[in-house]
Amino acid sequence: NRRILLASRPDGKPTTDNFKFDTVPVAEPGDGQVLLKILYLSLDPYMRGRMSAAKSYAAPLEVGDVMEGATVGRVIQSRDPAFAEGDIVLSHSGWQNFAIADGATLRKLDPSVAPVSTALGVLGMTGFTAYAGLLTIGQPKPGETVVVAAASGAVGSAVGQIARIKGARAVGIAGGADKCAFLRDELGFDVAVDHRAPDFADQLKAACPQGIDVYFENVGGHVWEAVFPLLNEFARVPVCGLIAQYNDTAPPAGPDRLPGFMREVLSRSLNVRGFIQREFVDQRPAFYKEMAAWIASGQVRYREDIVEGLDAAPEAFMGLLEGRNFGKLVVRIGE
Ligand code: NDP
Repeated sequence: NRRILLASRPDGKPTTDNFKFDTVPVAEPGDGQVLLKILYLSLDPYMRGRMSAAKSYAAPLEVGDVMEGATVGRVIQSRDPAFAEGDIVLSHSGWQNFAIADGATLRKLDPSVAPVSTALGVLGMTGFTAYAGLLTIGQPKPGETVVVAAASGAVGSAVGQIARIKGARAVGIAGGADKCAFLRDELGFDVAVDHRAPDFADQLKAACPQGIDVYFENVGGHVWEAVFPLLNEFARVPVCGLIAQYNDTAPPAGPDRLPGFMREVLSRSLNVRGFIQREFVDQRPAFYKEMAAWIASGQVRYREDIVEGLDAAPEAFMGLLEGRNFGKLVVRIGE
């Protein structure tokens, strides 16, 4: 069983030195367990947090641990009567080729609904994050302007399309002309703005003539700075992620802007609300049903960025933190 371990904690951007490959014998499942051959591994920005020792909403990995991650696998040996050989399941098995898992932790997937890799993306955690965060906190109304950052990515692409389904105007922010064209031409966003353009803030302002009612925050940094002045009174800001900050090692230079931020939260009655998707676990059944229907009807489209082979995972993950992925980043590990 080939595995990728956390070799050391990154200082700033992760490097290949932070990862270590090793090979161990494939283990035997115990009672109530199954042996999985991993088919797909999800790569997600939160993994950067797990590599650090800093306190967060989940415990960090220890050096020497297998890198964490959601996976889709095939049952190749079962000692849980609920699973048979050949079943395809969602598990949290990490960066490796084979894994032992407790049957109770698995969700069986139906390959006839959609390609099983989507259980890691649009029909999985990232799609659910978009759904719960936008609808519960963002609460978009018909005619309102919803802006989403990292809009071509796994979460952002679903946010914009759900906003449109709810009758709002969707403005996507993404890095580069190709991603912006994809938002407009493939996903039906009303406007797409390139955050790498020198006049990005002006373009965003022009794209939001009525201001911003909902801003779905995935990024932070210069994107947030351009959005903030445009927020309308009573705007809702689901704070989902701050990927532009994940590699930071020190606070940014410059004056303390927190008092000015708080003044605006007060005077514009802003609702800035952070969340971790698991908080909304009760909404998962509704999500699976609604999202599957939206995909079947073509109202939600998705793009996967599939890289080949476990060994490609570290490089692909490093690219995710710099916008090199285009769509939900998934590693194909087995057939
Ligand atoms: P994406 O598929 O959107 O990939 C990440 C994207 O972020 C990149 O493609 C890039 O897009 C953008 N990006 C990366 N670095 C920067 C940077 N320095 N400045 C600006 N943009 C950058 O990832 P996900 O959809 O999986 O995740 C999106 C966000 O949602 C992340 O912040 C993640 O942590 C968060 N998240 C939060 C959850 C929660 O429960 N709160 C659950 C799941 C995800 P581009 O090229 O367009 O700039």
